[in-house]
Amino acid sequence: MREIDNLKKEILKEYPRLDEQSSFSFACHKGVACFNECCGDVNIFLTPYDIIRLKSNLGISSTEFLKKYTLSPFDQNLKYPVILLQMGNDEKKKCPFVTEEGCSVYPDRPWSCRMYPLGLASPGDDSEELDREFYFLLKEDICQGFKENKRWTVSEWLRDQGITEYNQMGEYFKELTTHKFFRKGEPLPPKKIELFFQACYDIDHFRSFVFDSSFLDRFEVDDKTIEKIKTDDLQLLKFACRWLRFALFGEETMTVKEAILEDKKKELVAKGKLSKDFAGPKRK
Ligand code: SF4
Ligand code: SF4
Repeated sequence: MREIDNLKKEILKEYPRLDEQSSFSFACHKGVACFNECCGDVNIFLTPYDIIRLKSNLGISSTEFLKKYTLSPFDQNLKYPVILLQMGNDEKKKCPFVTEEGCSVYPDRPWSCRMYPLGLASPGDDSEELDREFYFLLKEDICQGFKENKRWTVSEWLRDQGITEYNQMGEYFKELTTHKFFRKGEPLPPKKIELFFQACYDIDHFRSFVFDSSFLDRFEVDDKTIEKIKTDDLQLLKFACRWLRFALFGEETMTVKEAILEDKKKELVAKGKLSKDFAGPKRK
């Protein structure tokens, strides 16, 4: 993780900053001498949306996908859990999805594979300056694609690679990862790290948590939402992000049922932690 921190510092300091109209030459196809060479020994961080696309492509559950294809590195400097695609144990540490014909999950390949050769940097990860994100070109020595004549603007490349949908879904995740709680440098306690992991990355596990536990007895969730999140992973991911803002940061993004609040009040009164005359916060 330290290598990644150092690379980030170098990018912020030295790499030319591109905007959507900036242009560059690049093409990647079976005819390039380096075909497939970049699909190994590489750190590919997976977003919650990447995991949904990949597990759907493979026809397996998120739980199985995480177990079979990913690593969740432990680093005490990490503010929240991250997921990496696990490379193979062979000499070239190949990606599990690379074949002689190219990427076997190409229509659902991860965000970072789509973006290359572009990168996106957020100088403000640790401050309030999130609006100052910028693109940059990541020129790997091995990559011959820059010698090709095809020219792109940044926005043409993003459109061609289907990045828009990934970015839209990424916004919900970004609301969590760039939350002021993390910007203050506060660590999540282990129990909340577990909640973050399951709700964001293991969406099928989160669905069981919602429907097979007392979750729906505790929170007000309208029937329309319940119907949608039963089967629609994307709706469930949006719902998970909303619930995490409540569960991790105490935001009022969920409403606890009246009866549960009453029970809690009685419990606190019985323990002497609350006066029995306490009316509680007014409902909006
Ligand atoms: S997911 Fe596909 S594009 Fe990305 S590294 Fe693996 S084989 Fe290459
Ligand atoms: S190294 Fe560059 S040109 Fe070669 S396969 Fe990878 S992205 Fe394409």
